[in-house]
Amino acid sequence: MLKRLTWEQVRELLKSLEERGYAVLYPEKNDFGDWFPRQGIPDNWPEDFSNYLFPVLREAVLPSPEPVFRIEDYSPVFHSYGRIAFFGVRPCDATALAYTDAFYLERLFRDKHYEKRRRDIFVIAVACTRPCENSFCRTMDAGPFAGRGFDIQMYPVDGVWYAEVGSDAGREMLSPYPDADEGHLKAWKEEVLERFPLLDREKLRYPIPPSVRKFLADRCFACGGCIWLCPTCTCYNERTPAGMDVVVREQDACLLSGYHRLAKGASLRPTMEDMMGFRYECKLGIGSCTGCGRCSTTCIGYAAMEAYLEKAL
Ligand code: SF4
Ligand code: SF4
Repeated sequence: MLKRLTWEQVRELLKSLEERGYAVLYPEKNDFGDWFPRQGIPDNWPEDFSNYLFPVLREAVLPSPEPVFRIEDYSPVFHSYGRIAFFGVRPCDATALAYTDAFYLERLFRDKHYEKRRRDIFVIAVACTRPCENSFCRTMDAGPFAGRGFDIQMYPVDGVWYAEVGSDAGREMLSPYPDADEGHLKAWKEEVLERFPLLDREKLRYPIPPSVRKFLADRCFACGGCIWLCPTCTCYNERTPAGMDVVVREQDACLLSGYHRLAKGASLRPTMEDMMGFRYECKLGIGSCTGCGRCSTTCIGYAAMEAYLEKAL
């Protein structure tokens, strides 16, 4: 179902989300030129918005650290941010949310902590019109338009906001607005798509060549930045902070040696090359990478996706 809204109607829709108890967050640039989510109803859509440097949706559904249960009786502890409507989510991050949904809700068990927060999130994706620095989202089927992971996806086309339904909640929110014809949007999408490079996906397969793995491993400082910022990194560790009566879980990073450590100092993957291979198995083998480019933007060693793409292609 496709609808057609004016900008004033988009603002009206955001206000009705507020009336339903959602904190509406939209992108705003700070004095240093970085994008952060700001609460409220935007006066205008920030045309120059590329994406947040940090993965806001992942942080909303997977805060780190978070208390998960009490030691005394194993009773669960739930941490909530309340209802949040994210306006302006980029398609790569909506796609990443669909991935973390599958990871935490559709496998052997449903993660109740994730599930409770996820229920409180409303996603309004806004299609991209130009690629961000270091991104290759089109190659990974995650941009410039999202195929999943949103309640509503909007397309700003020459002053008109086309809105596509992605969930029952999205359908309900869009029901007051007039239906739209897909014709004009289709032509616009074809034009936008041309601006996004399409790399040879066949060459970006796991396992990655040993020479490339060594190249990346030699340059990696094991800082973990690429993992802290990756919207699809889902691994975590659990621990009991000193003096606390709860167990917390916090994000773990597969390029840090502790992640692979076993009893008596043994390791499943003792070398950086082993760890790098493991990371790429997840990103390209399982296919969790959305091509958002954050790892390349943050990497201090030229060892993240940008370097991999250059070597592999
Ligand atoms: S591996 Fe890099 S490009 Fe891929 S989703 Fe993670 S941060 Fe984005
Ligand atoms: S690949 Fe880059 S960002 Fe990732 S841990 Fe290594 S040095 Fe840090």
